[in-house]
Amino acid sequence: MKAVQYRTVGGHPEVVTVPDPEPGPGQVLLKVTAAGACHSDIAVMSWPADRLPFPLPLTLGHEGVGTIAALGAGVTGFTEGESVAVYGPWGCGSCAKCAEGKENYCLRARELGIAPPGLGAPGAMAEYLLVDDPRHLVPLGDLDPVRAVPLTDAGLTPYHAIKSALPKLVPGSTAVVIGAGGLGHVAVQLLRAMTAARVIALDISEEKLELARAVGAHEAVRSDGSAAGKVRELTGGLGAQAVFDFVGAPPTTALAGQLVAVEGEISVVGLGGGTLAVGFGALPYDVRVSSPYWGSRSELIEVLDLARAGAIDVHVETYGIDEAPLAYERLHAGRIDGRAVVLP
Ligand code: NAD
Ligand code: ZN
Ligand code: ZN
Repeated sequence: MKAVQYRTVGGHPEVVTVPDPEPGPGQVLLKVTAAGACHSDIAVMSWPADRLPFPLPLTLGHEGVGTIAALGAGVTGFTEGESVAVYGPWGCGSCAKCAEGKENYCLRARELGIAPPGLGAPGAMAEYLLVDDPRHLVPLGDLDPVRAVPLTDAGLTPYHAIKSALPKLVPGSTAVVIGAGGLGHVAVQLLRAMTAARVIALDISEEKLELARAVGAHEAVRSDGSAAGKVRELTGGLGAQAVFDFVGAPPTTALAGQLVAVEGEISVVGLGGGTLAVGFGALPYDVRVSSPYWGSRSELIEVLDLARAGAIDVHVETYGIDEAPLAYERLHAGRIDGRAVVLP
């Protein structure tokens, strides 16, 4: 089968032919219908060899949906041809976090060598994907797989971050989304669907600001030296009760600290290497800072239900599998409108 692989440190993604996988006992084989390209893939492909936590080559793609092609021995509960989404942050399934459905925070994954597809295990950017356990699958029903595939990360990750900030996002509050790309443009929609907060989107690109407005941001502001002042102005000097940073680079984490309100919350989701100092006086009183990772199994079910209810609609650009390297090039250059989705 064809697969999109990251093969050597510092190299570019390549389309190669690899053997078709076969499901062993307890596993499920999917015929991939769609796979999303995430900026985290770009981050991983920029890491030096000593930071890379898995061997190469790696088949990319940690956002995947497909139809059931074959069930390994002993697998029940799914039928061939059924359309499913893959829950990506695989865990051990039995530690205290996994028992809560929070496999993203599995306590034993590293020790047991368990890694998500596309981030250690062979990923979804291929014609077939081997899924280790049917508990990682959520039925899609009649959801359009192409628009649904980004929900497995670009939807789930902001959903998880927003859910923990919900108590702060009361009527009259303000939420700021920094970076209106794949995750950010879904975050804007989630905030509108889940809260009564005013939503302000920040980005460095005029096209992304336009997309943010189109998907429901009340205000869209250029992310530059004057952004903190503008947000203060728009909030009567108070600042934002919740800031979601989908860039996470030094200029944006600094900005988050400047525009957050007293008792506000900052979620640093982006992997841009920015950090925040939290000593007394470094931030307004009682600000909480978190660095959430992906989301839980039940949260994925909730996000898919929101899409089914029509509350969120991901903007996608589609690419054939041979064009996947181009999709990554465009993502790297900041030129994707919404999410890039590869159709193998
Ligand atoms: P993306 O490239 O689609 O979007 C990033 C957006 O940020 C773009 O619109 C870009 O114009 C904008 N941007 C860049 N610099 C900016 C600045 N200084 N101020 C404001 N906006 C700026 O990327 P994505 O796939 O949405 O991923 C976003 C980030 O989240 C990445 O760092 C990715 O690695 C990370 N991520 C984290 C998790 C997690 O679990 N924590 C999960 C998925 C992705
Ligand atoms: Zn991702
Ligand atoms: Zn576990």
